[in-house]
Amino acid sequence: MKDRKLLMIPGPIEFEPAVLSALGAPTTSHTAPDFVEAFGQALERMRQVFLSTDGQPFILAGSGTLAMDTAGANLVEPGDRVLVVNTGYFGDRFAALLERYGAQVTQVRAAVGGRPSPETVEDALRGNQYKLLVITHVDTSTGVITDVRALAALGRKYGTLVVVDGVCSVAGEELRMSEWGVDVALTASQKAIGVPPGLALVMAGPRAMEAFRARRSPVANYYADWSNWLPIMRAYEARQVAYFGTPAVNLVWALNVSLGQILAEGLDARFARHRALASAVRAGIAVLGLGQVPLEGQFAANTMTAPRFPPGVTAAGFLPRVSAAGVTLAGGLHPAIKSEYFRIGHMGSTNLGDILATLGAIEAGLASCGHAFPLGAGVAAAQAAFYEASSQPA
Ligand SMILES: *Cc1c(COP(=O)(O)O)cnc(C)c1O
Repeated sequence: MKDRKLLMIPGPIEFEPAVLSALGAPTTSHTAPDFVEAFGQALERMRQVFLSTDGQPFILAGSGTLAMDTAGANLVEPGDRVLVVNTGYFGDRFAALLERYGAQVTQVRAAVGGRPSPETVEDALRGNQYKLLVITHVDTSTGVITDVRALAALGRKYGTLVVVDGVCSVAGEELRMSEWGVDVALTASQKAIGVPPGLALVMAGPRAMEAFRARRSPVANYYADWSNWLPIMRAYEARQVAYFGTPAVNLVWALNVSLGQILAEGLDARFARHRALASAVRAGIAVLGLGQVPLEGQFAANTMTAPRFPPGVTAAGFLPRVSAAGVTLAGGLHPAIKSEYFRIGHMGSTNLGDILATLGAIEAGLASCGHAFPLGAGVAAAQAAFYEASSQPA
């Protein structure tokens, strides 16, 4: 199919054929025994994918923003203090959302492309009674990854609940909920989970559920209220039927297939593959003479890359040419630098072939925009970096 394009944006991503065929299967009743089995299995598998031994999974129809909304609605009461570690657009969104539920939000920020240091976060935590510490694992507007392990340890030390926006990370970046002391992690189906858009996925650990049960005021969002969904999730996991709102039947079928694939690959292997592919992308971009939004190498995510345009190249000139070469990429998102960079998603079942095709299309786009570089250099550097990264132990 000559018109086929590879979708390499930070969600939605390319989906596996078995996932898509589950989506296209005849829709059953949400009470059909085989659907109950699939839903129950998906809930169990979610716990494994989030590396949570004792979390309560929620699968809701909605996007990633709904997953964020459920965390805010169920954990915040008016007047609660929240500390947001802001690394871009999605930190801004989380702060605004939490304020809607009456939180008093304090934000620690860094320059665009940077991230607040653990010392800065600790200074903010010290002497304040925060109920929540909110962290974006990978901010999709900057491609910056935070050190969730270190920040969650600080949250534990100062007695806050640790909430992680893992929408661009879960099942791609290393995230160990139980081991690292993360209380809530959330994502959406269309990112590294590998299912078309439409599901909000939330894992709430025991401390989060305890804080929810200890609320003094009712949850100010009817659809998102865990009181409504908890009996449903428990029932399906026990292979029983219960109803609050109709589940997205086909998406849940597809989710169960994708979670099965993720577990078959193994999470450690999956994290290592994402690291190796990311190092290939970064090497390819660097040799083409492009900088990146993350200010330091160790701030760069493994699920996506945010390269800066070289002088003279614009999104309007570049992106359609990359698309004509067969690959769809995304433009900028962070309002302060929107026109200065573009974004490549490389999560889910992305393989080396996809990365080389993407770099080839980027080279075609850059060349036709008049940027000078040795043709093929990006592809070659990516190939070399991938083999080096894959031959090293994680
Ligand atoms: C995509 C994304 C979201 C929002 O998810 P939607 O499904 O678009 O609502 C939130 N946070 C991060 C980090 C994301 O990458």
